[in-house]
Formats: sequence, C-alpha cells, structure tokens
Amino acid sequence: MSGMIQEEPLIFERSADGRSGVDLPAPPPHAPRLGQLKPRADIGLPNLSEPEMVRHYTRLSRQNFGIDSVFYPLGSCTMKHNPRLNEKTARLPGFADIHPLQPVSTVQGALEAMEQLSGWLLTLTGMAAVTLTPAAGAHGEFCGMSAIKAALTARGEARGKVLVPESAHGTNPATAAALGFEVVAIPARADGRVDASDVAQRLDENTAAIMLTNPNTCGLFEGDTCAIAAAVHEAGAYFYGDGANYNALVGRVRPADLGMDVMHINLHKTFSTPHGGGGPGSGPVVFSERLAAFVPVPYVTRAGERLALVEDDDAARKDGVTSLGRLRAFHGQMGMFVRALTYMLSHGGDGLYQVSGDAVLNANYILARLKDVMSAPYPGPCMHEALFDDTFLKDTGVTTLDIAKALLDAGFHPMTMYFPLVAPGAFLIEPTETESRETLDEFIEALRDLAAKARAGEKDWFAGAPYSTPRRRLDEVRAARNPVLRWKKGA
Ligand SMILES: *Cc1c(COP(=O)(O)O)cnc(C)c1O
Repeated sequence: MSGMIQEEPLIFERSADGRSGVDLPAPPPHAPRLGQLKPRADIGLPNLSEPEMVRHYTRLSRQNFGIDSVFYPLGSCTMKHNPRLNEKTARLPGFADIHPLQPVSTVQGALEAMEQLSGWLLTLTGMAAVTLTPAAGAHGEFCGMSAIKAALTARGEARGKVLVPESAHGTNPATAAALGFEVVAIPARADGRVDASDVAQRLDENTAAIMLTNPNTCGLFEGDTCAIAAAVHEAGAYFYGDGANYNALVGRVRPADLGMDVMHINLHKTFSTPHGGGGPGSGPVVFSERLAAFVPVPYVTRAGERLALVEDDDAARKDGVTSLGRLRAFHGQMGMFVRALTYMLSHGGDGLYQVSGDAVLNANYILARLKDVMSAPYPGPCMHEALFDDTFLKDTGVTTLDIAKALLDAGFHPMTMYFPLVAPGAFLIEPTETESRETLDEFIEALRDLAAKARAGEKDWFAGAPYSTPRRRLDEVRAARNPVLRWKKGA
C-alpha cells in the first residue's frame, strides 16, 4: 500500500458470503425446471455491497496507464487523443440505442452516417468500394486477402504465393498463411526500404499478391511503391496495402494513386476512435476497381431517397457483386463509425491534411532531438514514427526492456519495443499529432536522462525498475510459460 493507492485484491477475495448490492424478496417455492442442468453446487459468484464493488473497479481503473492519463507513444498503434466530441455524438440515442435487427426504415439516420463515412473513406483513398464490417485491422487484412483469393478464383487461377517484406507487422504473414498462401519474405535495402527490383525478382505466375505497408513499420516512406505496383500488376498479381500507418499520409496521398488494390483502414488508429485493452477496433476495407466486385455483405445502398442494406449474396449479385459473403453477424462497430465520422467532419479536409503533417513533424522532432544519444539505424528524416535500435546500449549491460521499464517511473507509457524485428532491440516511437511541444520535450528529457544513466554504468539500478508502479519488475518468461489464470478459494 502506498498512500491512497491501495493494493487491490481480486474481487473474489473481497467477497463475503451472503453480502449483496440488492435486496430482493425470497422467491416463492417453485419446482426447478432445469432438469439435469440444475447447478449442483454454488458457482462462486463474488458477493459485495454496491460501494465495495464501485470502489474495487475505480481503484483498478486508477492502476491503469491510458492515453487519458499519460503520453502513450506506442509505435505502429497511433495512440492519438480521442476528442470528447466523438463521445458526445456516439451517445446520441439514435445511434446508441438502436438494434441491428430493427427494420431499416427506422434506422435511416444510422445508415446515412455509414454512407457518409464510406464516402469520406473513398474520397480520401481514391478507391471504388468499401466495406465497414471488419472488426479491426487484422480482420480487414483477412477480408482484403479473401477478396484477392476470390478474384483469382473467378479468373480460374489458384496462385499460391504472397510476398511480404521482412519488416511487416506479424498480422500480414499470419493473414496470408491463414488463407493457405505460402509467405515469401522480401529483404529490406540498407536504407530500410523495399527495392522494386527485389520484388520483381520474386514475382512469377504463382504470385497472388504483395502485402506492403507504407510508410513501413520502420517509419520510412516506401519510395518504390508505384514501381512495385506496376511490376505486381504486370505479373497478374494484386497489391494489398496495409493501411495501419495511414496517419502519415491522410489527406496528402491517395492509396489508389500508389497502385494499391485493397487496403484496410484502422479507424481506431488514424481516425481517433479509442482502442487498447482489447477493443473494440474497426477496420473498414477499401477496394480498387479491380477488386470492387468482391466486397462482402452487408453494405449500404441508396434507393431513391431511402437507404437500404444489401444483406445477402443474391441481392449483391444484382449489383454485379460476387460477394465474399459475411465476415460477421451484423454491420460492424456502429459506435466507432460515428466517432470516426465526427472526427472527419470536425477536422474537415484541411484539418486532416494538417493531421498527417503534424504527426510527421512531431516524430521528426523526436528523432532529431534523440539521435545524438540514442542510435537511429536508418539515415534521414522519418515519417510518423521514429525508430532507434540498441547500438547505443552496447557494453552498458542495459537493455531496451530496462529503458522501457524505467520510463514507467518517469510517467510515460513505453514505446513499442523489439519491433520491427529488422532493427535489433528496437524502440519504435510514435508521438501522433495530438501531443504538445511541452509533452514531447518532457519525454525527450526523460529518455536523454536514461541514456546518460545507462552510459554512466547504472545497470543495477535499471535492473530494479520500475520502482513506482503497483507491480514491480515481473518475471515475464515465467508468466508466459507458467500462467496462473484461475483463482481457487483458499489456495
Ligand atoms: C495495428 C497494425 C495492424 C493490425 O491492426 P489491428 O487493428 O491491431 O488488428 C496491422 N499492421 C500494422 C502495420 C499495424 O500497425
């Protein structure tokens, strides 16, 4: 226990038999109708009074690190501020209190919001079709790559290979493998980018697609993208764009103009909807003319003044769409759609243009002010995130993990560590555009201080960090190998 921040037991440990937050009369005698399903023993639900329950969860919430309490520069995750206006609109009863099985005539406003969001996504990306249903980026990848597979099948081809740069996010090879493709790695050049000639060498009549992230996960612009797209198309393959880093380009570059055929957009990254702690995300996918006929159902269409939903494959065929079918039961994360649309409308086109400019500026400020004490593996400016490796820690006995733990004591959420794998001991720092100069300066000073401590030989101090968190240094290997996931009474 330290002051008002108390050690918090599990809710089961707080429980006292017979205590309750409600006061209900005992039920009248009745014959049980559950038959064999009748519980044989007490199922062990916790018993707490209402204030005990409220305090339990409030205390837990205070032990959380979140974007609303600290700077959260987690690379590749775009942890930008979620404007409170987004929350206000998402809570409007016409959006928040509707049900996916309501007649469409009663949810015209919600469909209109979905149509408007779709319109913004198509305008920004220059693409021809969009689906809003995927639950997050990885699900969007599955959707987009399934469309590529369906397009190949429609051509009567069964191409088996997908090219993936070695710096790619793990979800790219995982998606390709889940769909039965063989993954072929493309090496990076010394400057951290993919070379069009390396791609061309690996392309053949068995190549289904390339999955490319731009800017890539090293925070670098892939300057060969148009040449890569041309070579991929020449070989009869498709170009999957991983749009997770779209915050660096939004309002400036249209992915369709880069030659991409399909791209997922993480609304929870680029368009500010909240994420972390497992969701909900939202990963709409945009399709070029070449793949537009393979968009999944359901989608919104206009029938005169009214909006309608195309819900099944037969209806889609009337639009010339060979639908993939459904990716989920209903229409996607309505609350996220409203938040993202609010963000777009409140920024406007000029505001979104400024978003990408400020995001890139902030990352370059961090890179410029840290590269004399940390080590940047690639020369030149970066896009929306700054990458460092652990060369500057050589012979200090201090690791990337130690620096990340010590940052917790300095009051910051650590950056992404050890990813991308191409940079040994990587630190991937993505500040986003929503941080002030003062916040960036405090973070930079904290890292400069830690780099100096490492050089000064304080490895034993680092080994004990963090010192101020409710839990200290954890044995992560043991936690992963021997997880204790169940609480047992009296154990
Ligand atoms: C975040 C991310 C993904 C996956 O997106 P989720 O929404 O987390 O499923 C894919 N690729 C890159 C580069 C990412 O940063």
